[in-house]
Amino acid sequence: MFEKLTIPNTLAAGPGPGNTDPRVLEQFSKAGLADHMHPDVLRGMKECKFMLREVWGTKNMHTFGVAGTGWSGLDAMISAVKPGDKVVAFVNGTFSGIDALSLRMKAATEEELAANPLDPNAKSVEVINVPHGQSVDGDIIEKYMAEHKPKWAFMAHYETGSGRVNDISGFSESCERHGALGLVDAVSSLGVGDFRIDDYPGVVAWASCPQKGISCLPLTYAPVSFSDRYIDVLKATGARTLAHNPILEARHWAIIDGADVDKGTYHRTHSAYAVAAFHEALRLALEEGISNRAAKYSKFEKALSGAFRAMGCDVTSDMTSLVVLNLPENLSGREMEFVQHCRSQNFGIWPTLSEPVQVRVGILNLLSDEAISEIIDKFGAALKELGGQFDDKLVSLEINKLSEQIAAE
Ligand SMILES: *Cc1c(COP(=O)(O)O)cnc(C)c1O
Repeated sequence: MFEKLTIPNTLAAGPGPGNTDPRVLEQFSKAGLADHMHPDVLRGMKECKFMLREVWGTKNMHTFGVAGTGWSGLDAMISAVKPGDKVVAFVNGTFSGIDALSLRMKAATEEELAANPLDPNAKSVEVINVPHGQSVDGDIIEKYMAEHKPKWAFMAHYETGSGRVNDISGFSESCERHGALGLVDAVSSLGVGDFRIDDYPGVVAWASCPQKGISCLPLTYAPVSFSDRYIDVLKATGARTLAHNPILEARHWAIIDGADVDKGTYHRTHSAYAVAAFHEALRLALEEGISNRAAKYSKFEKALSGAFRAMGCDVTSDMTSLVVLNLPENLSGREMEFVQHCRSQNFGIWPTLSEPVQVRVGILNLLSDEAISEIIDKFGAALKELGGQFDDKLVSLEINKLSEQIAAE
């Protein structure tokens, strides 16, 4: 027999998963085993749906959670894309790159898919590659949207691979101008940034994940939201998926024929544990307020990236939950070794997952002075262990100066 599995506690200072609040874990472990049609489970799902509309900032009726991780929600989001559909996908890092692959699999013709099943070259999909470390901006979006006039357009809101924030206003406006249906990967932005999706009418579908800004890892729900325009397209063309069909999925969340109904109907088995945990995570997000939480991310990211700069690192990201950087010159090229060194001490930072190799340090649900100081101390100690040279006094001075600036703002 194997030993009982023990998994250590780490300081989860990466791009995700983020740290789950003890209140969420308590709700997870305290839930009784009610089945997925028990009135309290169905009520919990309905309340989650209402809270999700607040969290997304939307009146979209089709707003709910897809069981699983970010890719589960994204899979539901692109379920209406059909073989041969014209798509423009903007890619500026690992995750939008995988999204583009997912879109190529959907839009490929049968012949194109059979020719290269795991990486089809779909002629109807234009992938616009923006270099790693840069954001997708309004000019690039407009240029390619005007040129290709696609049925669907895709972009990641926050590209977690390179830590860049992309221009969601420019994207929405271009979609409206050229009559495209906008699809957005909001896996890293929901619960981190301060935005309301109803302000971006060119975007018809959004998908996020449980374990980043929502801080609900105990594998729960990927939040998704679809406008009526998306649902109309889906109604007209159908989708070759049952589990991830947004219209069918919505039924268990008590959304039937485009309206809220009293009680959900069976679509798949939902876990009472997951529903209870997700419900508490959403309550926490709304108690704190999306704008307040976003302001905290912004404040603590400034302090963290300022400290890293004072240690001689070159920060290339502009996300507020994640810092992506190159090590000081004398350690350049040893980024992977540095990350492995930190991870072996249960300091869970990450490298980039595609070239170039950079270091990624995140602060998901680590929004306190103590947590940020701990990350700075651990990072600095590891730098020194590998031969980094910086003056601790200068770093502390810089941190104090930054804290004063931030307090003054
Ligand atoms: C994390 C991430 C994903 C993948 O989410 P999973 O929960 O691992 O399935 C997709 N897109 C972006 C932008 C991400 O940050």
